[in-house]
Amino acid sequence: MNEVFAGVDLGGTNIACAVAAGDGTILTEAKVPTLSHEGPQRVLDRIAGLVAELSRQAGQAPSAIGIGIPGLVDLEQGITRFLPNLPTQWRDIPVRGILEPITGCPVYILNDARTAALGELNYGHGRDCSSMVFFTLGTGVGGAVVIDRRLRLGPLGAAGEIGHQTVVADGLLCGCGNRGCLETLASGPALTAQGVRLLKSGLAPKLHELVRGDAGAVTPREMRLAAEAGELTVRDAIERAAEYLGIGASNLIAALHPELIVFGGGVSELGPMLINGIKETIRRRVRMFPPDDVRVERSLLGDRAGVMGGIALAVCRGQVGS
Ligand SMILES: [Zn+2]
Repeated sequence: MNEVFAGVDLGGTNIACAVAAGDGTILTEAKVPTLSHEGPQRVLDRIAGLVAELSRQAGQAPSAIGIGIPGLVDLEQGITRFLPNLPTQWRDIPVRGILEPITGCPVYILNDARTAALGELNYGHGRDCSSMVFFTLGTGVGGAVVIDRRLRLGPLGAAGEIGHQTVVADGLLCGCGNRGCLETLASGPALTAQGVRLLKSGLAPKLHELVRGDAGAVTPREMRLAAEAGELTVRDAIERAAEYLGIGASNLIAALHPELIVFGGGVSELGPMLINGIKETIRRRVRMFPPDDVRVERSLLGDRAGVMGGIALAVCRGQVGS
């Protein structure tokens, strides 16, 4: 019988998990609430329970488990260092030490954006590429850099934080402490804030109608719908976010000239409006050499990139970076 692997995507709201063959064929998958307020031990117990249940459904125990984790982790030791968006921030939680005795197989952990990039590299648009830059657009802007099919992780495992490159010299304060990071201009909350501002200024009647005047109901999805219905002010806000993402991408192209740039995460569902704006900006801003051969794509795996990255991490036995 061929080996199977478990991939886990630990999020602030949900834990997604899949059991798959090494070629990425999913056998079983499921999602449960994270309930992160219950603390690390209970969350890890829930992950172990979910893997056990899916393995039972698949009729086979996994050879290894790969987990994408929302924050900084020590890949070598399997310990979380700092998860800014989870209660208690999970400082120095020995995830591998806790999970391996329960699950009975090797456990590997990696930052969630880097994990999603690994999924895209092995099972998505990156399959035939040697170099790739991956942006994940959600509550924050995460990312990863792939060179010669290996993640560039750096000595702290933190390389690839391309959402925290400065794109406005004196911009808004970012959660990381810097000002003017790409994340402050192109994350889900950054885009939504623009939508809310337009709504409250009376500049977005179509958006107002879509959310029935409820500013709390504005999301990038409603903004896309308003823009598609002809709301020029909202379209302009989306195009500005695309411009900043294009600047971020252009910086990476100038530095690395990668074969492929991929945008994943919920905000990437803004679709062609966002991707075309990014491509246009790249054409205007990369001038030292023609960037025409750099492919710019939306993630092929969509919201499965995280679990598929976990599978890839397990298949590679954690040997994914440098
Ligand atoms: Zn930042």
